[in-house]
Amino acid sequence: MKLLVTFSRKGGREPVIARTVKETGVLINVERANIDSMAGEVLVDVPDTDADLVCRKMRETGASVRILEESVLRDVDECIDCGACISICPQDVFSFDGEWRLVLDGSRCVLCGKCIPACPHHALSLLS
Ligand code: SF4
Ligand code: SF4
Repeated sequence: MKLLVTFSRKGGREPVIARTVKETGVLINVERANIDSMAGEVLVDVPDTDADLVCRKMRETGASVRILEESVLRDVDECIDCGACISICPQDVFSFDGEWRLVLDGSRCVLCGKCIPACPHHALSLLS
């Protein structure tokens, strides 16, 4: 399960991810991180069965945690199955099925946003 973790660094440099791993024993896979001197936003992947525990521990450290049920979204009415998104996605989220229709594996998405401008029909968006 993917979690979007955001935290402020104004009050110090609490090691949110490291502390959560240490105190829960859950192995957390960091898929994307954007951290500067003021704040951080980290996309992590954790086993579904450990998600509640990880969320609770991260929130105890002052972080905000959002469970991402979906990642990239496709408007099926706009999509023309052109395949432009297939080559641009670094995570192989998109592919064609046996009838050359686009299919998505949203569990692989790391919300990098590269596919959004690549779609000629503006059929893709990210959860906001
Ligand atoms: S946001 Fe990035 S990882 Fe997700 S589907 Fe688009 S290109 Fe792939
Ligand atoms: S680039 Fe857009 S229109 Fe083309 S297959 Fe992907 S989602 Fe559909």
